[in-house]
Amino acid sequence: MRDFTYRSQNAHVLFGQGSIGRLEEAVSMVGGKRALLLSTPQQADQPRALTEGLGCIVDMFDGATMHTPVDVTERALEAVETAQADCLVAFGGGSTIGLAKAIALRTDLPQIAIPTTYAGSEMTPILGQTENGRKTTLKSPKVLPELVIYDVDLTLGLPAAMSGTSGINAIAHAVEGLYAQDTNPVMRMIAAAGIEALADALPTIARKPDDIEARSQALYGAWLCGTVLGSVGMALHHKLCHTLGGSFNLPHAETHTIVLPHAIAYNAPAVPEAMDILRHALQSDDPAQALYDLGRAVNAPASLRDIGMPEDGIDVAADQAVENAYWNPRPLDRNELRDLIARAWAGEAPRT
Ligand code: NAD
Repeated sequence: MRDFTYRSQNAHVLFGQGSIGRLEEAVSMVGGKRALLLSTPQQADQPRALTEGLGCIVDMFDGATMHTPVDVTERALEAVETAQADCLVAFGGGSTIGLAKAIALRTDLPQIAIPTTYAGSEMTPILGQTENGRKTTLKSPKVLPELVIYDVDLTLGLPAAMSGTSGINAIAHAVEGLYAQDTNPVMRMIAAAGIEALADALPTIARKPDDIEARSQALYGAWLCGTVLGSVGMALHHKLCHTLGGSFNLPHAETHTIVLPHAIAYNAPAVPEAMDILRHALQSDDPAQALYDLGRAVNAPASLRDIGMPEDGIDVAADQAVENAYWNPRPLDRNELRDLIARAWAGEAPRT
């Protein structure tokens, strides 16, 4: 066995169907009495109804927005002040959890995250924020939520299409965790279990979005994959998605879903151990193709063209991918990366 360093994040998780019923207890577990509830405008009705009559929820801010714009955070900080809140409850996906993190960064208030997608932000000390159209990312233990409630019932309303891409977005965290520069055997074990749970559950959810068993498995998988994202570094796949998303304003989870099979195919020759784990987790001799097929099974878009990337962006993205040197298990070759992006743009199967 190779030498490794292992560091774990603090995690306090309440997992179970109906666990939203433990919210009052959760607020006191983080030392709070007066919680500010956060959500997006689209989702506001559900958390408002679910928390009606709870004395620990003193007010609600329902302005959470994708990419955590700083002006929204500033408005939410005013709501914190007005409500004299002593903790935060984020109900929603990565956007709402991002807002809680941004407030916690500035106030040190404890956070309870109640995720309703599979994005995994609740398990990471990472925060992306946007100001003047520029997104910057930081890492700080201050932004890691103190407590997470995973209640499968709250994921039943996640539309089938979003469930598939959000789940494959989570798988991407675990895949890159398998070959991260700072990976370790414990993270690999968690990553393998997360990938297995999600790959098994997502096709069932696509056919039957209210299947409780599949939904529970997917949520469990999302927790594990988020843990990997929060613990070890990422590589080519995440860098490409960041670049593509930022340059062409592409949707986050769909971009991950389309690029992942191609990024794995690129890195495969350099990471035989990770590929063995993936073969086992995905029950396939060809993990890149299996993830491409998983995208089709959940009816996700297959091509970057379909989600709005212009064809002349292929060369721009290839240049950007090699511009800022970053760690990847296989050296970055501009021509091969151009080929990878061109295949993803056209929706072709990965070159395995
Ligand atoms: P999201 O939070 O942006 O949600 C998308 C839409 O779906 C919103 O309108 C939301 O209200 C709605 N929604 C969420 N759950 C729902 C449900 N169960 N039923 C019905 N509607 C629901 O989407 P996301 O993919 O969870 O998060 C994406 C954002 O999170 C991106 O900005 C990404 O950068 C960030 N992110 C951050 C991290 C991190 O570690 N910092 C990790 C993953 C994602």
